Amino acid sequence: MRGYLVAGNWKMNGSNDANRALVEGIVAGVPANKDVQLLVCPPFPYISSVAGLIEGSAVLLGAQNVSQHASGAFTGETAGSMLRDVACEFVIVGHSERRALMGETSKIVAEKFRAALDAGLTPILCVGESLDQRESGHTKTVIDEQLNTVLDEVGIDEFRNAVIAYEPVWAIGTGVTASPEQAQEVHRHIRALLESKNVEVAKGIKILYGGSVKGDNAAGLFSNPDIDGGLIGGASLKSDDFLAIAEAAASLC
Ligand code: PEP
Repeated sequence: MRGYLVAGNWKMNGSNDANRALVEGIVAGVPANKDVQLLVCPPFPYISSVAGLIEGSAVLLGAQNVSQHASGAFTGETAGSMLRDVACEFVIVGHSERRALMGETSKIVAEKFRAALDAGLTPILCVGESLDQRESGHTKTVIDEQLNTVLDEVGIDEFRNAVIAYEPVWAIGTGVTASPEQAQEVHRHIRALLESKNVEVAKGIKILYGGSVKGDNAAGLFSNPDIDGGLIGGASLKSDDFLAIAEAAASLC
């Protein structure tokens, strides 16, 4: 029973006031269905205050990035143990914005994945192709490279405690969503790659779709057999929008 995970990546958005309104709205509307989990990933400075706001609710807490190092002279970086210390359970690694804007290679992403696990966090590994890569027929090659680099680093067993997010770069923040068929095809490919290494791990892992998910397209995406929820950017910043996606998931349970 994989159930659904609806995860909000707030990116570099928010303020104390805005976060309070957003989280209070989410907490008030969490679907009763236990097969739908909600997760929020605020910017670092707000993690502790958001932890306080969700206390006693079913909403889960995550971060948007983690250092590949455990501690030491890495100015501006945040260790996995620190994220655990402030009640995070999840962390996003390999988001395409970090790959493209911060120069994170697949090897660095794999090291971050390992660091997250070492700290007791559940990594949400983002993979996805650019428009050029899709149009030139390289989608699966790109996904394989991103996934295999992590598999080589940690091994398939470590994916028992992980989540994967397929996020086609061309669908992120653009309002263009992959069709349910396009998304399912890549999700099936990802699960098949994992199945070739360990069927049980492949069956158990949640694979989220990310890229302009909204309340009105979520059910069409989530109703596919290999899509287990969403990683949500823009629509995670308003509680009504985020909850509409959660309700779409709940309607499928
Ligand atoms: C994201 O950044 O992970 C994302 C999916 O963003 P959006 O939902 O805004 O496309």
